[in-house]
Amino acid sequence: MNNMENEHKCKEYQIKLGLKNEPIIFKFNTKIGGTSWNGKNWIIYYRNDFDILHELGHLLLNNNPKNYIHSHPTWIYSFINNIIDCFDNFNLITNPKIPEFASLLSDECYDYTTTLWNRISQSTPHMLLALFCLLFLNWNYIVPNTLKKNRTQNINFVLKQAKKGIITEVFLSEEYFDDFKNRLTYFKAIKDKYDIKTISNYIVNILVDTRLASKNTVLTVIRQLIS
Ligand SMILES: [Zn+2]
Repeated sequence: MNNMENEHKCKEYQIKLGLKNEPIIFKFNTKIGGTSWNGKNWIIYYRNDFDILHELGHLLLNNNPKNYIHSHPTWIYSFINNIIDCFDNFNLITNPKIPEFASLLSDECYDYTTTLWNRISQSTPHMLLALFCLLFLNWNYIVPNTLKKNRTQNINFVLKQAKKGIITEVFLSEEYFDDFKNRLTYFKAIKDKYDIKTISNYIVNILVDTRLASKNTVLTVIRQLIS
């Protein structure tokens, strides 16, 4: 796609998602997608169609999007942001105006498997846990089975390898990890609820009740990411 085609596509998605009146500047970026607010406009960075839709989706979820930040000083930011990303993706996948999102998400998960694989040896165990959750939830509870192609085996293999490091370094036993995973899979029951209270309770249940983070820290980060 050339610049004009890109720009056209961004605007088209913006209108389809009902965000016509939001002041948004789209910027193509080869490295990573993201959104920031410069006091006047949203700047949405994107690599591909998935990023355009996913970043616009954040604006749909956020009640007070001016607070939106996209830098992650600690693993807790990454973790909570990744959980919010899953709600964002589920909201988009159920939007009949963008049926192509389902297949874009399946491809994104598959590409992300390589990222996770490379990060197993490079990330801190807690950061690895944040990355694990993103792929685990997206693949198991958002991507439709019909679009999983023959990718599940590969994805499960990488998740399993990541899990080994996480158990050894974070949870110390399989039992604690299973407890954490059970709390995580509760996503299935609430994935179509986007109010901050439901999302906060869900995250508190995962991070605070398993003593991975304090309630104060978790609520502060949630308030910074969505409000
Ligand atoms: Zn995101």
